[in-house]
Amino acid sequence: MLESKMPHQASQAVPILSVAESLGLEMVGSRTNCFNRDHHAGGEDEHPSLTFFADSNRFKCFVCGIKGDSIDLVRAVRGVGFQEAADWILALAANSSTSARPTARLAGSTGRVPDLAAIKVFTAMYELSTEVSSKTLGGKYLKRRNLDLKLAAQHGVTEIIDSDDLLTLLSVNLSEENLRAAGLMTQHGRFLFGDHKLLLFYFDGDRPVYVQARDLTGEAHCKELSLAGLRSPVPYNVDALANSPETVMVCEGAIDTLSAVQLGYAAVGVPGVTGFRDEWFPLFRGIRRVTIVFDNDEAGRRQGVELRAQFRRRRICADVVFPSCGKDVNDLLKSLSQRSKS
Ligand SMILES: [Zn+2]
Repeated sequence: MLESKMPHQASQAVPILSVAESLGLEMVGSRTNCFNRDHHAGGEDEHPSLTFFADSNRFKCFVCGIKGDSIDLVRAVRGVGFQEAADWILALAANSSTSARPTARLAGSTGRVPDLAAIKVFTAMYELSTEVSSKTLGGKYLKRRNLDLKLAAQHGVTEIIDSDDLLTLLSVNLSEENLRAAGLMTQHGRFLFGDHKLLLFYFDGDRPVYVQARDLTGEAHCKELSLAGLRSPVPYNVDALANSPETVMVCEGAIDTLSAVQLGYAAVGVPGVTGFRDEWFPLFRGIRRVTIVFDNDEAGRRQGVELRAQFRRRRICADVVFPSCGKDVNDLLKSLSQRSKS
């Protein structure tokens, strides 16, 4: 199924790691959890086995053996046909300023910045989605991560209880075209976040300017999804920079950022480990020191050092640190919370 006869130009149009990231796949170095894990013994892929090869722009899973190129990857993850997958990659290439680069540097987040019409859609979605509570799936998910629900709500976290209901409500004032332009529809006209119900809104002041969504069931192909073809104009929780705190943490993802905030730090988040954008550096003017706390894995260590160099080149003091226990800031929060309980 995954071998096509002639390589289509789309298969080489974007580095496969950038394709993977734009699909919202959670990367551990150059690996991710296999989308074909139903074909693994036990149906799991606890140690990410699907590996990307930057040189050939292909992937292979070392457990089930599934392999292919970028088009095959998009077909499998988005559940679309060949042409739609090829078009999706070409659109990504057209919107990407980094597509010519052979490997993802600090590239990563690609696409255009949401316009006012898209922000209107996110505002409606924010208002029509549900506040997380101890009774909802999303609330329980956050609780398992020892995150304070009130704090999460104050930082733009909501959830979808029923995606059909939400879509119906959104459709009262918005057309499918509005939703598509806001990166929320698949080309088959399906709602992008149908299986990803925890919504992580990126606010700039009082406007939600971007959103990512997490799977709460553990059943979706990828844990986290980003908008199709759009990138965030600001880091997550950018308001933390407003009062020029002396030190700011830069975390990997919204959950880690919330964990850092709960631990008392001023923190902002990048949407993925390679997601820091060049245009964000001016936002850090007036900050004395930046502490980069990415995941303690190969990608986190590599990108942390790269980002530190970028800050230093701009004469902003920067360091890379790792949580004293666990892999990420949320692990640290969990272990500190357990310690304080016992
Ligand atoms: Zn596999």
